Amino acid sequence: MFNVRMEGFRFSSQLFIWLIAVCIGVSSGFEFKHHDNQELFNVLRDVNIKCKNITRVYALNEGSVLGIPLYVIEFSTKPGRHEVLKPEFKYIANMHGNEVLGRELLLKLADYLCDEYRTGNPHIKELIETTRIHLMPSMNPDGWQLATDTGGHDYLIGRTNNNSVDLNRNFPDLDRIVFDNEYENSDKNNHLLEQLTKLNDPLQPETRAVIRLIMQIPFVLSANLHGGDLVANYPYDESRSGSQSNEYAATPDDETFRHLALAYSSRHPDMASQHRKGCVDSQFAKQGGITNGAQWYSLQGGMQDFNYLSSNDFELTLELGCEKYPPPEDLQLEWERNKEALINYIWQSHIGIKGVVYDAKTKQPISNAIIHVANVTGVESIDIKHDITSVYGGDYYRLLTPGTYKVTVYKDGYVPHTKLVTVTNPSFTQALRVDFPLKATHGHHHNNHKHPFHSSKVIILFNRKLRTNMPRVIEIGPHGWRKGSQF
Ligand SMILES: [Zn+2]
Repeated sequence: MFNVRMEGFRFSSQLFIWLIAVCIGVSSGFEFKHHDNQELFNVLRDVNIKCKNITRVYALNEGSVLGIPLYVIEFSTKPGRHEVLKPEFKYIANMHGNEVLGRELLLKLADYLCDEYRTGNPHIKELIETTRIHLMPSMNPDGWQLATDTGGHDYLIGRTNNNSVDLNRNFPDLDRIVFDNEYENSDKNNHLLEQLTKLNDPLQPETRAVIRLIMQIPFVLSANLHGGDLVANYPYDESRSGSQSNEYAATPDDETFRHLALAYSSRHPDMASQHRKGCVDSQFAKQGGITNGAQWYSLQGGMQDFNYLSSNDFELTLELGCEKYPPPEDLQLEWERNKEALINYIWQSHIGIKGVVYDAKTKQPISNAIIHVANVTGVESIDIKHDITSVYGGDYYRLLTPGTYKVTVYKDGYVPHTKLVTVTNPSFTQALRVDFPLKATHGHHHNNHKHPFHSSKVIILFNRKLRTNMPRVIEIGPHGWRKGSQF
């Protein structure tokens, strides 16, 4: 009798513990650990199930060399499409397979954004309501597997993809084109893929897939998460002279890029600290935790400069810590240390100005118009020789630091339109809206429905697969996930 009652008690207490475990599991299933490639997918799937109205999981058209899909989770109030006047942002991590902190940070960030949105955190709600955010935890799942299988301690093993190619040297070298254009005083300073006539190396599948993503979604701001040092690195990564290091390669947007880099480093507890030790012998702490890429060391074929020179996107390379493969027990602390910086950086997609370019008479949006800016804050007017273009809905986004600017919009068949604007960038608010109605020159209108980015020459050069449509959605929606979904 006594025994039976004890059994009953033991059973119900076990049931109770199990029930608690289930409840905790449902409300906060995220575990700080190194998630393998299947678990990475499972985290994204679980977030998608939990936050079905504001997320979408998709895979790029091509996977890794070994066939592992490259997954992205998107946060938006209208997942799956670009909305006029809503800036697009992306984080890509683990491009070097043995640099794994960014991968785990992005998984946690996805979980965090979802949970905070659900519990009504006003700051996160506002961010998701005003920004379309894409998170790609791993660009190199094959390298991650190799690094992990070999213990994760080597400085190089697992860095490259499975064809032994460093993906951050595999992008088309558009720096060389823009430097030649500068030298020849050519005005062509943006969307330079159409000027590319040869590739130094064949593109890897991971590179091709990401190029397609960059061409298809009109990103405004992004960062590429690495490890091995602690610094926010900004363009250009390639020196003008060919010098290996110590040559500052400023872009026309140097002021904006320095601001963006500081927006990350200054929100990190150590990155900008004057007192910290460098990882090797670096001087980054004295520079506020930021560096120009080529000043540090010059590289060709990086993803950061490719984004800036092939599209409207501004990208940084964030080095998140001295250790490339930190032990799992460090991950939670690293998340706490990077959380505010990661979110503050996404907010930077709202600095400067944005607006719609449209036909003054028909009110139709005009895509592919050129937005040229001169900084007139000081005594003399300084042209920023990097134009951006309006996208599908005639909308444009021009990241700028505080100051006064003369903004001119050009489009064939229309009279150029200039406005003087003062940018102040109050924190955590949307960009100042400045629209541009354009008057046609001869009363007839050109058709502006051409895709703002595609250039047939380039597509033939890379291969036909570049032409294929939006990144493939694997499964979406509340009922899209089958039990035990595999990658
Ligand atoms: Zn790296």
